[in-house]
Amino acid sequence: MWRSWKGGWRVSEELLYEGKAKKVFATGEEGVLLHRYKDDATAFDGKKRGRIGGKGRTNATMSAAVFAYLETEGVPTHFVEQVDEESIKTKRLEMLPVEVVVRNVAAGSLAKRIGYEEGTPLKTPIVELYLKNDELGDPLLNRYHFRELGVPDEDLDFCEELGLRVNEVLAPYFDEKGVTLVDFKIEVGRDAEGNLMLADEISPDTCRFWDKETGERLDKDRFRRDMGGVEEAYAEMLRRVTEIRERGAVD
Ligand code: 5GP
Repeated sequence: MWRSWKGGWRVSEELLYEGKAKKVFATGEEGVLLHRYKDDATAFDGKKRGRIGGKGRTNATMSAAVFAYLETEGVPTHFVEQVDEESIKTKRLEMLPVEVVVRNVAAGSLAKRIGYEEGTPLKTPIVELYLKNDELGDPLLNRYHFRELGVPDEDLDFCEELGLRVNEVLAPYFDEKGVTLVDFKIEVGRDAEGNLMLADEISPDTCRFWDKETGERLDKDRFRRDMGGVEEAYAEMLRRVTEIRERGAVD
């Protein structure tokens, strides 16, 4: 079955996957998927559930802007185009079962693991590799574990190098918007030709963003920690990313 969209393009209604924060559809175009981001929010492996108005729009639009910028900096991504406020088209990839976390400032699980106060700057960025497995609670693994699970060292090398490169590009990108990129999680997939590239999303769901001046949190920690002002934080990050993009288009 086919359905028309606002922009005049058409997509098959075949839902391939529904996750906690997005739906993935086949598009009818070979090797291209549609990711539609939802306002539904979960945390702590789905134990906490809620809804953040405008989240789908922020996550799709910020991911589109950030992926497009990363491409101009030579970082390969799955991004094809943004098709409406809540949806982007991407290349179809086979995902590695890995979550790559890069950190510039101690927060969240790292602060607990190494006994640092949240907010302590790290001497150099830290990269961590987690197994993407909800049932196991996404455990932090080392290379021996990943080898045992069939993920080769060369793929992990790519993950680490990509994570550090993304950080090198995005830390100044967000700094320019008055935001400290505290840490973030990315995922990696392989296309039909065997090329590994950045996948998933870059959004307040997957990054910690702290206002540079006030330290105010502009990310999902507001939801995780019941801090209030969740929708406002997502809207503020969307504003900062799109404002710069629009200004860039005029300059
Ligand atoms: P932490 O390990 O401190 O909980 O998270 C580190 C960073 O990775 C944070 O920016 C967090 O948002 C992101 N992150 C880690 N795991 C996940 C996950 O399973 N889902 C999402 N949305 N973000 C994650």
